[in-house]
Amino acid sequence: MPRKLPALNADNRAFWQGGEHGELLIHRCHGCERFFHPPGPICPHCASLEVEPHAVTGKGKVLSYTLNYQPWVAELEVPYVVAIVELVEQPGLRFISNIVGMDPLAVRIDMPVRVSFLHVEDVWLPLFERDQ
Ligand code: ZN
Repeated sequence: MPRKLPALNADNRAFWQGGEHGELLIHRCHGCERFFHPPGPICPHCASLEVEPHAVTGKGKVLSYTLNYQPWVAELEVPYVVAIVELVEQPGLRFISNIVGMDPLAVRIDMPVRVSFLHVEDVWLPLFERDQ
């Protein structure tokens, strides 16, 4: 699948490159001990500047999803799944990704998933597979 890759910066580099070592790195605040995403220099919960990337389990569940059938570019394989994944570490800690490695039509809400990384150039895209 063709991918538009993120522009790396000091805040998001750990998130996009943690997969090199098999780690999903999510920003965590030392002030309130909460995770947040997307990564940034300040905690959105308590405004602390004491934040840094922290390895999480990579486990979560499908909060919601959609199937894309539109071949936006010629080499795009359809259908594919765009999902909101909520990580087990904290309610509301979620981001958008793809569910891969299974029949797209078999994806379900609340399905347990775990991260798998797709290495493209200088990033390791965090995708998700069904967790057995
Ligand atoms: Zn905080």
